[in-house]
Amino acid sequence: MEYQSTRGGQSGISSARAIITGLASDKGLFVPKTIPELSSYELAKLASCGYIDAAKLIFSKFLTDFSQADIDECVKGAYSGTFRCDEITESVRLTAKLDVLELWHGPTCAFKDVALQALPRLMVKSLQLEKENKKVVILVATSGDTGKAALEGFKDVDGTEIVVFYPREGVSEIQRRQMITQEGANVRVCAVEGNFDDAQNAVKTVFADAGTQKLAAARACLLSSANSINWGRLLPQIVYYVKTACALSSDGERINFAVPTGNFGNILACYYALRMGAPIGKMICASNANNVLTDFIRTGVYDRNRHFFKTLSPSMDILISSNLERLLYELSGHDAKEVSGYMAQLAESGRYEVSDEIKSAVNELFFADFCSDLETQRAIRGLFESFEYVCDTHTGVAYGVYNKYLAQCHDGARTVIVSTASPYKFPRGVLAAFAPERCGELSDDYSALSLLSTLAHTSVPAPLSGLSSKPVLHESTIKPGEAKSYVASILGE
Ligand SMILES: *Cc1c(COP(=O)(O)O)cnc(C)c1O
Repeated sequence: MEYQSTRGGQSGISSARAIITGLASDKGLFVPKTIPELSSYELAKLASCGYIDAAKLIFSKFLTDFSQADIDECVKGAYSGTFRCDEITESVRLTAKLDVLELWHGPTCAFKDVALQALPRLMVKSLQLEKENKKVVILVATSGDTGKAALEGFKDVDGTEIVVFYPREGVSEIQRRQMITQEGANVRVCAVEGNFDDAQNAVKTVFADAGTQKLAAARACLLSSANSINWGRLLPQIVYYVKTACALSSDGERINFAVPTGNFGNILACYYALRMGAPIGKMICASNANNVLTDFIRTGVYDRNRHFFKTLSPSMDILISSNLERLLYELSGHDAKEVSGYMAQLAESGRYEVSDEIKSAVNELFFADFCSDLETQRAIRGLFESFEYVCDTHTGVAYGVYNKYLAQCHDGARTVIVSTASPYKFPRGVLAAFAPERCGELSDDYSALSLLSTLAHTSVPAPLSGLSSKPVLHESTIKPGEAKSYVASILGE
């Protein structure tokens, strides 16, 4: 399987090279030249096999330059003993027509674990296949979830090091604690004075700095990132859509998925699963008040020139959904010139309008709507009152939008709500939704965890319950301008 850039500047690239490189040289994203289709025999097998076997099969369709032994090793390393149970993702039946797919039983309690447990292994294997005798040094700027999931994924993986920068004023107490207590011989965590943009700009400056790149090369290191545009992060997400759709469908019935969406990575994986032949119906794209995707799917106009809201679902507070570029490439019939045109307009004016062909294809595939924070809170409360099921604030957005879909479309199809975080990851927002009168008594995030546990009759997940007593291992703080010398000192060791 060859990979090519959505902007036409690179083609004939191996999957290993695409994973090592991340972003194509023309700033496009790597996509497979064709999307492999699953045979009816394979689809039947996927309906009943275990998660690890499903991952091996789907990975092998896209990573044809990897041997089956290579793939087996990556998959086993990623999914053996790292999640709460061997099934990795867990489906909860609410009604005959509605399931919740919990993707957050990994080490950091958010769905990003599914991809970030696999990416480091795929990256190390890719370096070997491409005979790059180098160590990868991953630099990550995080607003919360990604940093911790990347740390857990890369921790103690031979041939890698990881440095995570987080904004000192911009992550929750629990998120900060998760990161500064991180164990592992190859990890570093560093606070940056300022907000997320300051941390992100600091990391971008390091990547763009010729001196740092030269030093890295001299030390046989390769600087890379772990963000969601890397093909090695998207691929692992296809597995749970194919598997869930196959397992739930009978007699060819198509399953809808409602996905809380930010960067468009998770829902794009659903689209790839559909194209591979999984029995998937409508893809319901759920946004919060940052509803740039809702407008795009309804009108064909993408316009990021709007107010940026900080919401109760912070991992979806995004105005540029990078992975949408891959969908545009598919729906334009691989027209790199057309895609480049849209992206140039986005860079220049923050806005583009797609062709009528793409508009109608998008409409056929997706339903889109959004929830305000108030609507999300109502959805969380409604879900609890109807089913005694407590969901996090991101999943709450998906459930709220699913209800809007039902009201408008009267579709009787079975639907899966994709649940992207444990409610314990965002305990204050969840409590504010279904027990607002109790929020006054919370002295800190830890008391929110225990109150939520009491009210929801579930226990705090192990990765979060011991946090307050774990030793702090990372205490550095730098100014944004010091990121370069900080990385240089690590490379110099
Ligand atoms: C990252 C994240 C999302 C958004 O996923 P995308 O792939 O960026 O669309 C949703 N919910 C949670 C909890 C997340 O961490």
